[in-house]
Amino acid sequence: VLVPVGLIAGGLISVAVLLFLRNQSSMPSLLKAGLRKNEFFVVYQPIVELKTGAWVGAEALVRWRRDNGEMIGPDTFIPIAEDSGQICEITMRVLELIERDAAQLFYGHKGFFLSINFSAQDFANPLVIEKLDSMVKHLRIAPDRIHVEATERVFMDLETTRRNVARMREIGVKVSIDDFGTGYSSLSHLASVELDALKIDRVFVQTVGTNSVTSSVIGHIIAMAQGLKLKIIAEGVETEEQAAYLRQQGVELVQGWLYSKPIDAVTLRAGASSGMDRNRDEVPESTKEK
Ligand code: C2E
Ligand code: MG
Ligand code: MG
Ligand code: MG
Repeated sequence: VLVPVGLIAGGLISVAVLLFLRNQSSMPSLLKAGLRKNEFFVVYQPIVELKTGAWVGAEALVRWRRDNGEMIGPDTFIPIAEDSGQICEITMRVLELIERDAAQLFYGHKGFFLSINFSAQDFANPLVIEKLDSMVKHLRIAPDRIHVEATERVFMDLETTRRNVARMREIGVKVSIDDFGTGYSSLSHLASVELDALKIDRVFVQTVGTNSVTSSVIGHIIAMAQGLKLKIIAEGVETEEQAAYLRQQGVELVQGWLYSKPIDAVTLRAGASSGMDRNRDEVPESTKEK
């Protein structure tokens, strides 16, 4: 009798230990530990005015370096954070990190704008919205210097879209639709909701100059955005040929490795300032806005 009881107990204990270990190293619990241990940081990719080459804005992109040195990309962990209900915490951390970089990003740097990525859950979370609102107020910048980027999923049903956009309008930030063309979005929503900008996903930019069947799509996206009076930002520009095409189509803002990879705030500031000196005759605005 003793033997089977021991076996069963032993078996149960090992199962429990295995489950515990598995849970310890699962992505959601690693994310949780990562938040606690401050393993997240933010880099900024310049957004460039095609006509002048000036860096007129930047997109904040979150990064995760685990304490063992391993880098995990947002394409891997953001979807998991969304599924496990952790995305809002990450977004709030991103907002805090941006606020810490504010001196480099905003001050004495008239008009420079910053794009922040929001997931669908962020729009529905009062804590996130409140944090965005209070960040804008703390920083004492014109709220329209913050652009919130949302993927097409945020625009799936009209009522939610309207509510989300209306809340952003109250705060005064701009709203861009990200990765346009890769997800589901209804053209009627696009037309009936007041958006500011449309970001063309890099998969379309990369068809420029190729003979692929999808290479004509980008021209239609640009024409549609222009028809809707949306600002266009082309993502993932890697070659001069792509830049030349976009210029010829009347696209004004671009982002991509041809100009710069994502960089830290100090490097961004240095590059943006020198770009402005090079390309514009502008008096530095040292403390005008603050
Ligand atoms: P996204 O918002 O569309 O960001 C653009 C992505 O394209 C970034 O990838 C950027 O590093 C990459 N990229 C920029 N230029 C080029 C280029 O010339 N060539 C190529 N091949 N790639 C380029 P990243 O930083 O890995 O971010 C991936 C996605 O993760 C983002 O796509 C965004 O959807 C999400 N993400 C990043 N940061 C955040 C965040 O703070 N919050 C949320 N919710 N999502 C985020
Ligand atoms: Mg984005
Ligand atoms: Mg994008
Ligand atoms: Mg993307």
